[in-house]
Amino acid sequence: MDIFSPTKRSEVMSRIRSTDTKAEVRLRKALFARGLRYRKNVRQLPGTPDIVLPKHRYAIQVRGCFWHAHDCSRANRPASNTGYWLPKLARNVERDLKSDEALRQLGWRVRIVWECEISSAKSLATVATSIASELQSGAPGGVA
Ligand SMILES: [Zn+2]
Repeated sequence: MDIFSPTKRSEVMSRIRSTDTKAEVRLRKALFARGLRYRKNVRQLPGTPDIVLPKHRYAIQVRGCFWHAHDCSRANRPASNTGYWLPKLARNVERDLKSDEALRQLGWRVRIVWECEISSAKSLATVATSIASELQSGAPGGVA
């Protein structure tokens, strides 16, 4: 049984959606503070990466744990209407894998940042610093 009524559920879902956006914004700010300059939501690239550093051929995808079915407690799968949600989430995951692969094929480094990885100020700082140093060293992109 879902703990939420359908109306409540869609309200919760829309809140989760805006949380995704918030995670992106937080990461962008943290990168900007480290002197990195980027482009946002680049439609010309597979999967429309959230944050792109063209000079480094480095793309960052910030993924919401729910929408992209992260294997963490934050993902909180809906318990009702699973016939609708599970295939939908599975399609998202499949699309993610394809677009990440397509980007790599084009010679881009792809860094996946999960919402839960940057949920605290401290973890956000850690991730942003690791991205900044990866760019400096030219080392291969992080593992998803
Ligand atoms: Zn997560």
